[in-house]
Amino acid sequence: MSGVCLEGIVKFYGALEVVRGIDLEVREKEFVVLVGPSGCGKSTTLRMIAGLEEISGGTLKIGERVVNRVAPKDRDVAMVFQNYALYPHLSVAENIAFGLRIRRTPKDEIKKSVADVAEVLGLTPYLERRPSDLSGGQRQRVAMGRAIVRRPDVFLFDEPLSNLDAKLRTQMRAEVKRLHNRLGVTSIYVTHDQVEAMTLADRIVVMNNGMIEQIGAPMDLFNNPANTFVAGFIGSPP
Ligand code: ADP
Ligand code: MG
Repeated sequence: MSGVCLEGIVKFYGALEVVRGIDLEVREKEFVVLVGPSGCGKSTTLRMIAGLEEISGGTLKIGERVVNRVAPKDRDVAMVFQNYALYPHLSVAENIAFGLRIRRTPKDEIKKSVADVAEVLGLTPYLERRPSDLSGGQRQRVAMGRAIVRRPDVFLFDEPLSNLDAKLRTQMRAEVKRLHNRLGVTSIYVTHDQVEAMTLADRIVVMNNGMIEQIGAPMDLFNNPANTFVAGFIGSPP
């Protein structure tokens, strides 16, 4: 298990500075939620942590290791997206196994890992089905299964529930929480849903325009917002 440490992280796209000096220390096993308006740099920040986007400046550590130049596959992070792309021609079991297969894991080890993950996510009865025969919530679980089967040190979520309807979103939110409690994986979770942030987070990070406005436990931010921006984002009743 590892924490994640961002020191003065900056991202330029050409001349445009979209992440403008982020300092954040995510502790081991902590669940940190990033919130902020569209375009403020949440996804870019996650993508830099995952290694999917080059870091323009600053230092990124996962555990004790500086990973600025480490390839995504060597970082021990897994990312769950909003648009989970499952392979339609593969079964649930094969979809979950996919993350392992590219690493040449032995066959019986794959089988065991897939069975464990399916059990955790309540997917055991569906292992032989195709994605097209699953509900939206089940598909999202398969996407999560594919991420956790690798047993990453760090979990990154980019608005994973925003495509689901309200009822399913509430249900999956509880699922994410349960999964985190069970696996205890350090997690960074992006959402624009205030209730989601308040219920999932150990600490919430409020971003605005490529910078952090405030970091704190949900009730701290709620009761003591640092400025009107944070108050507007967190302080209003859900
Ligand atoms: P958020 O996830 O908070 O909505 P993003 O991190 O996706 O924000 O985007 C932050 C800013 O960076 C936005 O202004 C967006 O238009 C810009 N941006 C994101 N990706 C690229 C890219 N590949 N090239 C140029 N600009 C980008
Ligand atoms: Mg985004």
